[in-house]
Amino acid sequence: MTDASPLPSGALPLHKPVVVIGAGPAGLTVGNILRAASVDCVVLETESRAFIEQRPRAGVLEEWAVRGLERRGLAVNLLARAQRHSECEFRFGGERYRFGYTGLTDRHHWVYPQPLLVTDLVREYADVRGGDIRFGVRDVRLHDLDGDRPTVEYTDPDTGEHRLIPCDFVVGADGARGVTRTLLTPDRAHISRHDYAIGWLALLAEAPPSNDCVVFGIHPDGFAGHMARSPEVTRYYLECPPGDDPADWPDDRVWSELRKRLGANGAPPLTEGPLIEKRVLDMHNYVVEPMRFGRLLLAGDAAHLTAPIAAKGMNLALHDAFLLGDALVSRLTRGDGTGLAGYSAACLGRVWDYQEFSQWLSDVYHGTSSGDPYLAGTTQARLRRIFASPAAGLAFAEQYLGKDPDPQEY
Ligand code: FAD
Repeated sequence: MTDASPLPSGALPLHKPVVVIGAGPAGLTVGNILRAASVDCVVLETESRAFIEQRPRAGVLEEWAVRGLERRGLAVNLLARAQRHSECEFRFGGERYRFGYTGLTDRHHWVYPQPLLVTDLVREYADVRGGDIRFGVRDVRLHDLDGDRPTVEYTDPDTGEHRLIPCDFVVGADGARGVTRTLLTPDRAHISRHDYAIGWLALLAEAPPSNDCVVFGIHPDGFAGHMARSPEVTRYYLECPPGDDPADWPDDRVWSELRKRLGANGAPPLTEGPLIEKRVLDMHNYVVEPMRFGRLLLAGDAAHLTAPIAAKGMNLALHDAFLLGDALVSRLTRGDGTGLAGYSAACLGRVWDYQEFSQWLSDVYHGTSSGDPYLAGTTQARLRRIFASPAAGLAFAEQYLGKDPDPQEY
């Protein structure tokens, strides 16, 4: 069991200023920021390096997140290889509607698959900055989080031995299914949840993109999405009942639904290919407040989940990581704890902003297929307004691209 109980008696282990639990975008970015400031830390990860470097998920990064990575020396490959997008396309009522957001905001979406970003971050942390990372760990437990000297315990995958790492701070960056969030029991934090009661069949096709930008298909039979990942791989989504079995979606059914829901006058045909990922995501969100208990600081999906409706999760994970990495460096190298004291509040403003946009966008995507004619009518009104009113178009573009951080933030 993971808990905040006193440390079991045992040998005297080596102290680390920071232990990071989880080698996703959040944990690895914090680790890199610490290493760049010569702060010693260790990253613990349950999976293997090969696994996390291939796990497909996100692909859309916001401009401020790319600039944040660039400022920290973490975007060399991204800047060389990512595609920059300046438009998206809505399809509804059998027609195509292009929405040029860069013309309105002067900012882009960057398309860079999450496995490539994770590969870059691991390489920089472990191979370039000499960071300590332990893969395949088991039974991670945390102790004495409310004291000055917490300890992280885990089982070494090779020897089966229990290891103890006393530290000053623990970063909980172990995602939506990790252990650190479970420590934030109701007496320590409040968790707000929202269930959309909607499923998305998430698909990866080994096929070039079928359009030169992201496409949102708003259809009475359900939402469908098209998102480029690379010249060879494309992500598609199909709305489905939550808990649906991917086995009920043979390839023929998938392509036929995609053709129908993404079909519109003048739309290019879909480029089909083998489906290399097919899984059902039940759309739900949560937010943990505050994102801190004692010496444990949560970051990324461990602290807040945003269903992939608005492509915000990885961006939020990076936002947390920038703030937390900088705050830990200030505290551990200069004794300045201001950043850590304000960390949770500084993150939660953007978190709630993105949660609200996700919910708004979910109505736009799913209203037409909800079976509720009233919701279908208001959804169509929202869509028309984005294209008819420059002010509404700008407001949508700003939320879709994510607001730039305040200059004093980082
Ligand atoms: P994770 O990436 O989940 O990393 C957590 C790590 O902790 C994992 O490596 C895990 O193995 C490890 N771990 C778990 N438990 C333990 C433990 N007990 N001990 C040690 N390690 C542990 N977001 C966007 O911004 N844009 C998108 O386009 C987008 N598309 C998406 C598409 C899909 C299909 C999905 C599922 C998600 C998408 N997201 C998107 C969301 C994005 O992938 C996540 O928000 C992001 O991965 C969060 O990063 P993280 O570092 O917080 O957590």
